[in-house]
Formats: sequence, C-alpha cells, structure tokens
Amino acid sequence: MSVLEKISSKDAIALEEKHGAHNYHPLPVVLSKGEGVHVWDAEGKKYYDFLSAYSAVNQGHCHPKIVDAMVLQAKTLSLTSRAFYNDVLGKYEKYATETFGFDKLLPMNTGAEAVETALKICRKWAYEKKGIAENSAQIIVCENNFHGRTTTIISFSNDAVARKNFGPYTEGFIRIEYDNVVALEKTLRENENVAGFLVEPIQGEAGVYVPSDNYLKEAKALCEKYNVLFIADEVQTGIARTGRLLATCGNCSCPDKHCSGIPEVKPDILILGKALSGGAYPVSAVLANNAIMDVIRPGNHGSTFGGNPIAAVVAIAALEVVKDEQLAQNAFELGELFRAELNAFIPTCSLVNAVRGKGLLNAILINDTEESSTAWDICMALKENGLLAKPTHGNIIRFAPPLVMTKDQLLDCVRIIKTTLEAFEKQK
Ligand SMILES: *Cc1c(COP(=O)(O)O)cnc(C)c1O
Repeated sequence: MSVLEKISSKDAIALEEKHGAHNYHPLPVVLSKGEGVHVWDAEGKKYYDFLSAYSAVNQGHCHPKIVDAMVLQAKTLSLTSRAFYNDVLGKYEKYATETFGFDKLLPMNTGAEAVETALKICRKWAYEKKGIAENSAQIIVCENNFHGRTTTIISFSNDAVARKNFGPYTEGFIRIEYDNVVALEKTLRENENVAGFLVEPIQGEAGVYVPSDNYLKEAKALCEKYNVLFIADEVQTGIARTGRLLATCGNCSCPDKHCSGIPEVKPDILILGKALSGGAYPVSAVLANNAIMDVIRPGNHGSTFGGNPIAAVVAIAALEVVKDEQLAQNAFELGELFRAELNAFIPTCSLVNAVRGKGLLNAILINDTEESSTAWDICMALKENGLLAKPTHGNIIRFAPPLVMTKDQLLDCVRIIKTTLEAFEKQK
C-alpha cells in the first residue's frame, strides 16, 4: 500500500470506521492537503480551516519555515533520547525560556503530558519546599476544565463522558467554580494542604469561556498570599491565539507590536503545547523558575521523545514565525473585527445568541439546547460552503482560524458564516 495512492473521502472514512477505534466523532470531511489558512479534501474541494487542529496550527498549515527546519533536522538527527545530549535542545530551551521569561523548561510531547508534568512538579514542590505532609497535597482545579485525557487528568474533570467507567480516580484535587475568586479564597483559607491552582486563562473546550477582566490577576494574588503555585494551562490559549503571546498577558494593553511577551499575570508554572510546534510535530513544555523546577532531579520524570532534536528545531521555528509575522497582533486585530462583524449580525439572526472570545479564539452560542443537533447541522452547512468548524458542548461553535489569516480572508469567512446562518434560518 502506498501513501501516495489516492483514495476517495468515502473510502477513507470507511477504513477509519472499520479499523480505527471510535474515540472521535469527526465531521465527515477527509482532508488531504493544507496550506496557510486553507485545507483541501480528497476530492480537491478547498476550505477555510476554522478549527486549526484545536489551535495547534496557529502559524498556518505546513508553514515553510517550520517544515524546512523539521525536514533538515529529520535528515540530520531525529532522536537520541535524553540518555545523551543533543546539540539543539539547549538552544531551544534558551530561546523558549527567554521568550516566555522563565529560568527553565521541561520538554514533553503532548499537552496532557505537560499537564501531568506540571502536576508532578507542583506536588514535589509542595513536599520539598512548602512543607506539606507527604501524600496530602491538594491541587485546586476548575469546573468544566479541559486539561487532556490521561487517567489523572480525567480524575479531576467533571465531563461525564470523559470520566465514566475509567475509575478509580486519582486523589488530591479540589474542584471549584471557574471565574470565582471568592470560591478560590475560601478553598485556600480552609485547606492548608493546597499546593497549586491549575487554570485555563480562557476555557477553550468548555466553550470559549472568557473570565472576568481581573480574574487571573486576583487569582494569582491569592495564590501568592497562600504560597500556592499558580499553574496556567496555555496549551490552547498560548502562542498568540488570544491576541497576546500568552493569554496570561491579560489586559496589559500592550500595543502588541512591542509586546515583550512577558506576561503581566505571571504563572509560577506555564504549560504549553499545540501551537508550540505550529502543528508540525507533537511538542509540549512546562516552564518555571529555578526555585520550582529544581525539585526535579534525574530519574524523577522523563520521556523518550521529549526534547528530541526535531521537536527542538520545530519549536524554535514555530516561535520565530509568531514573532516575525506578528501573529499576536494579527490575532488581536482580526479578533476585534470578527466579533464586531458578528455582533452587528447577531441581532438580525434568531439562530445565534452571542459571540464571545479573545483574539482569534471565539465561539458563537447557538439558540438551541445542548442536546440538539442544530450546531452540528450548521457546521455541516458551513462545510458545504467551504468553512470547517466543529461544535463543542452541543450548542457552541468554536471559531479559531490560523493566525496567518489576512483581513480580506477573514471578511470572506464572515460572509460565509453569515450567509450560511441566514440560509439555515430560512430553511428551519
Ligand atoms: C488540547 C489541550 C490539552 C491536551 O493536549 P493534548 O496534546 O491533546 O494532550 C490540555 N490543555 C488544554 C487547555 C488543551 O486545550
């Protein structure tokens, strides 16, 4: 069997259906090529990608600078394991820690692994630095969180589908309401064994919930007051997605162009993944300063592929693209435009209740129940009209195009979204 052999969309779907585990429910479109903001299906139909692989492809599909770096490194040295040094990991660690303003980086591959890593670092810090009694550390998490799919992570999720029949669950987590500093303070006050607070700056999977303006800043202040680590999961919100290099830049009102990328709300532990590689390769990372990261010693943690040479050069290239092409600023400006356009449209359309988001991480709320198929049906209609998006939580549609989009392309997409919704409303 040759990978170059063309197959139809129908056949590709049938193969997955028959031979693949059914752990996803994809939109029925089979993609075979990507470039910038576009993808093409097996029959050659062109689409705007409004999911960007859950914000992994912020730099656009197959960005030549990232691909070139990857191919060259793949031909030179791909994997050494960490049993030996390689000559690019250190360069990447230096570049990334300088970019984000931390002393050290721990390289992993997937987002979930990086979250697991952050939790381990936090617990070890709690025992060795904070002085919490062994095996009693607690980490505060939020309702409706999404941090990945591993056993420990689903243990503190409240998504029934993600959890049911995967127990017994890992202990040591306290779940509180998102965007609620009163609940956070109460929990901190009542539990002296709290080691960390794990939070998404914007809840992406939950449906693009943007917290109140001062939430992150106040939460961070509370963490400082109670000597608890503020752990930001920026796997989805990071790398320019929300109009800043990091969403924890908050409302620093930087003119973007000159944004140093140093967050105003500085997490104690920062978790990155997805667009850290521009979608070319699985690359994730945990960043922290020495006082925290130094609790990790040889043998405490690792990954065969973590920090491999390809990942290192890909991540450097991916971060350089974000800077060179000013993707944070572009996401900021296009995001403002997108929400302004949709906010003007929504009063004329009974199908949509609201648009919300930051930068180019946005969602529209469909005027129907979570159980209804309306959002899915709208996504099917959008697909017919050349734009790919996916519902999250039933009645919410996330819109997250690659950040390399131009203004004209965005307006073209707004036109597709509006005409699709109008046609859908008429036929309903
Ligand atoms: C996607 C995501 C993860 C998990 O990343 P994987 O690479 O799928 O394991 C973790 N946290 C957040 C906020 C995410 O969006």
